[in-house]
Order: sequence, then C-alpha cells, then structure tokens
Amino acid sequence: MALASMFPRPATALEVVSRFHNMNAISSFIVNVAPTRVRSWHKKLCPSQVCSSRFFSVVKAKADEETAAKAAARTTDKSSPTIFDKIVKKEIPATIVYEDEKVLAFRDINPQAPVHVVLIPKDRDGLTQLSKSDPRHKDILGHLLYSVKVIADQEGLTDGYRVVINDGPNGCQSVYHLHLHILGGRQLKWPPG
Ligand code: 5GP
Repeated sequence: MALASMFPRPATALEVVSRFHNMNAISSFIVNVAPTRVRSWHKKLCPSQVCSSRFFSVVKAKADEETAAKAAARTTDKSSPTIFDKIVKKEIPATIVYEDEKVLAFRDINPQAPVHVVLIPKDRDGLTQLSKSDPRHKDILGHLLYSVKVIADQEGLTDGYRVVINDGPNGCQSVYHLHLHILGGRQLKWPPG
C-alpha cells in the first residue's frame, strides 16, 4: 500500500509513527493525542487490530529517524506549540521525574536506554532549537545543564551518562522545543550514528 494512499500527507504519518517503536505506544498516541484528522484516518483504514499492526509495520519500515526528522523540519511550523507544551500544561500524561520553576524533566516515550529522560525549559521563549539561542538565553541554558547533574544524581547514574541535544534535520531533531536527552543505565557506544 502506497504511503500516499494511507495518509493525505505522508510526511505527517512518518512524523507521527517514527517516534514510536511499538504498537501500544503508537495506538495510545493516536487515541489520546493525535489530531482528529489522523485519528479518523486510522479508524477508517484500520478498524481491526490485525490491520492496525500491518498498517504500522508498513509505515514504520519506511519511517527511519532521519526521514522523520527531515519530514518534521519540512512540515513543522516551528513557532507553533509542540507536544512538550501539552506536557508542561499537564494536558497529556508524562512520567515527570524532576520539576522546578524553570524546567521540567520526564521519561522519554521511546526510551533508547534504561534511563532516558527528556529535559526542557518550561517556557520555550524562542528556543525551538539550540541554534536559535541568543545571549538572553544564557541563564536558562546554564540552568538546564546544571539540572542534568541533579537529575542524573537522582536517577543513580553513578557510572556516567550521556547528554544529547539534537539540532535541526541533520541532528535528527523531531520536536521543536529545545530539549536535552539524558541517557544512561547501560554502556553507551561511541561514535553515535
Ligand atoms: P528529538 O528527536 O527531537 O531530539 O527528540 C524528541 C524526543 O521526544 C524523542 O526521543 C521522542 O521519543 C520524545 N517524545 C515525543 N513525543 C513524546 C511524548 O508525547 N511523550 C514523551 N514522554 N516523549 C515524547
């Protein structure tokens, strides 16, 4: 089945589906969070669970991280609120592990390590990505970095961890609200892909 026949805008499907590695996470996203248009496509095309699995495996196979990041960069209105704004407003659930007046940290929905925490500024304030920062952001950038240390201590990452900021399509950024990934709990490899 051609992607174009499944979704009017294949990039939208790629962007949504590529964020998840299993059916349950995708289904929960579609039912609880996805725009009405995506929900109704899914309902129309996949009334049964079997169809649903096949549907997602076809889309997923085509939706690697790089493709998804490029689709996100192309299709996202970077000034619009993102899914992270909904998490900050507690409009959608997330497992929050740390919060203060300026930052929020929660477990990644698609973890790449036993510990995978996403740390964001609560107020995006133009920080769609690190490369958009300017001198007025120095305080929050410092606050974010120090918060990483606090969270890593809290998570018991005594043997080390990695902090990642994906920036733009080449960096495989998919959500345009600055965020730091804190990854740990296993031996990480270098170089990254
Ligand atoms: P990026 O690829 O932009 O650097 O990272 C975005 C991260 O946000 C991804 O690792 C993705 O799994 C995570 N993510 C996307 N949507 C959600 C969500 O609704 N909830 C949570 N907890 N994480 C999300």
